[in-house]
Amino acid sequence: MQEVYLDYNGSAPLDPRVAEAMLPALRDGIGNASSAHRFGRRRAAAADDAREQVAELVGSSPAGVVFCSGATEANNLALIGLAEGAPAERNRIVVSAVEHASVREPARWLLAQGRAKVDVIGVTPEGFVDLDELDSLLGPDVLAVSVMAANSETGILNPTDEVAERAHAAGAVFHCDATQMVGRLPLSMADADIDLLSLSGHKICGPGGVGALVGTRAALARLHPVTHGGGHERGLRSGSLNAAGIVGLGAAAALAANERDAESSRVKMLRDRLVCGLRSEITGTSENGDISRRLPNTASVRFEGVDAEAVAFNMDPVAVSTGSACSAGSIEPSQVLLAMGLSRDEAFETVRFSLGRFTTGAEVDEAIRQAVTAVGYVRSMTESGG
Ligand code: PMP
Repeated sequence: MQEVYLDYNGSAPLDPRVAEAMLPALRDGIGNASSAHRFGRRRAAAADDAREQVAELVGSSPAGVVFCSGATEANNLALIGLAEGAPAERNRIVVSAVEHASVREPARWLLAQGRAKVDVIGVTPEGFVDLDELDSLLGPDVLAVSVMAANSETGILNPTDEVAERAHAAGAVFHCDATQMVGRLPLSMADADIDLLSLSGHKICGPGGVGALVGTRAALARLHPVTHGGGHERGLRSGSLNAAGIVGLGAAAALAANERDAESSRVKMLRDRLVCGLRSEITGTSENGDISRRLPNTASVRFEGVDAEAVAFNMDPVAVSTGSACSAGSIEPSQVLLAMGLSRDEAFETVRFSLGRFTTGAEVDEAIRQAVTAVGYVRSMTESGG
């Protein structure tokens, strides 16, 4: 049976060209990038090349790139780092209801610690952050607004320009988790007026365990470190640099910058072919959110009356994902879909398909075949009470 990987939003495969670029750093790389000797300097120079490649991809200055272990750490550093240095009269953080757990949880933690007040902005049924609600929440005590560029479950794109404008009018810092957007659609921090941006290597066909928080000079100056130690990365993220990982992140960023537009239109055609096939061959198929403003690679598809976990299980060896999070043995419906107004049952009927660089037409056709069989099987079992 043919394995098909349609979970790029979970983690994208490492591009062999990135692996190739990392090999010298893995095989021959010697030294700590902080060391003054030639070995160390060589490491530091390679990291600085990667800094430029990452900065180029997101339209920032290389000096604003703070390497870390991934978007989870970048999001934690942004929120906790800002709260740590905030004046008492600016202690409120506003986050959207559809943020990734790595934004939601540090915000919740800051609230529980009494270190910040937290407000949650709802989203419209289309999946966009509700700008009227944002307006009603903004005031002189707002320290930061954190709204993601593209949602990982639905692919829906937020109006980040409008969010930035509103946040800045209130004197707040705008943090944008762009983990799913980067490398898929053009995004420039300078043009979009983003102060702090999080990104991750393994979502752009780079290695896992490496990412960056990218900031403007002014925003980084407002951050306090979360990790304390030798003062690496402008004092914001202590710890010897992950030299090979950083080289890989840089290579992945350079490939994404060069290939993004062509890749996105190819992947969009495949995604549309997938959805078209699912809709025409499976009754009761619909999509969540405003499908005209979403990532080109993502489809959040609901099969009416069918448990998505069961569909995903029966689609094996085609890998897809459900929006639900499994914690402590109990399956919870997707908070993203609930925030968009879906019922618990509807949320449990949703399967996420996410495509990418190495997805082929034959794989899409195989996924359609497997989905038809899986949904048919689950429906027949449900009807027979099995
Ligand atoms: N933010 C978003 C939107 C994500 O999709 C993810 C990964 N699922 C993360 C943050 C966390 O990224 P990492 O795996 O690099 O910690």
